[in-house]
Amino acid sequence: MKQRIDIEALCAQRGLRITEPRRVIARVLSESEDHPHVELLHQRVMDIDPRISIATVYRTVRLFEEAGILDRHEFGDGRARYEPAADTHHDHLINVETGEVLEFVDPELEHLQRMIAQKLGYRLVDHRLELYGIRKGTGE
Ligand SMILES: [Zn+2]
Repeated sequence: MKQRIDIEALCAQRGLRITEPRRVIARVLSESEDHPHVELLHQRVMDIDPRISIATVYRTVRLFEEAGILDRHEFGDGRARYEPAADTHHDHLINVETGEVLEFVDPELEHLQRMIAQKLGYRLVDHRLELYGIRKGTGE
């Protein structure tokens, strides 16, 4: 279950002007439980307000990303995908056949990464990890 993040409130905190299209896009992003790309976001936005163009969606997600409100990912298909920037960290496992994205946190793995950075003379401040896999079949 994804943590629900109020994008509109974050915009207000960061002093971003909230226009009506931005409000709609913020709402769709807050309600999305996946990692949608812009085309998919635009489809969802159109269900609420069909006058909002895909160009507006592009510009708005860029703006939100630059403000640190959204995280952008690229999960191997060349398309940018977005999710609200959560306070808590997670990594992703991508099913390369279906495009399904699972989120996980593994304390051992987090620890190992800090140790690797430390061995190389660094203090880890951030990381990104994407695992790509196919689901193990039942009838194989
Ligand atoms: Zn995620």
